[in-house]
Amino acid sequence: MATELCFACTDKDYARPATTITCSVCKKEVSWREAVTHYMGHGKKSGNDVVCPICNTKVKQQEYRNHVRRHFAAKRGLFYICGICGRSFVTLRSLLVHISKTHE
Ligand SMILES: [Zn+2]
Ligand SMILES: [Zn+2]
Ligand SMILES: [Zn+2]
Repeated sequence: MATELCFACTDKDYARPATTITCSVCKKEVSWREAVTHYMGHGKKSGNDVVCPICNTKVKQQEYRNHVRRHFAAKRGLFYICGICGRSFVTLRSLLVHISKTHE
C-alpha cells in the first residue's frame, strides 16, 4: 500500500498549491507569482498615460502599477481579500504589500 504523505511533514514545495489564474485578456494560464506583471504587460501606452487592460481607463504611467494592483484587491466584510490567492488582510495597505511581494 502506498504511503500517504502527511501534509504537515512534507517540504514547502509540496504543500504549496501550484496555482495559476486565467488571464481575462489573452486567456492564457498565468502563474499567480506573476499575475500583476502579466496584466501590466497588456497595458497600451498613449502619451504619458497607459490604458488599463482590465477596465479600459486611462491612468498616468506612474500610477499604473498601483492601479492594476487594486484590481486584485477585494473588500469582503471587515477584510480585504487578495483576488489572486484568496488570503485575507485587515488593512488595504497590507494587502497591497502582499500583492506587490507575492504576485509581481
Ligand atoms: Zn494575458
Ligand atoms: Zn483598471
Ligand atoms: Zn495573494
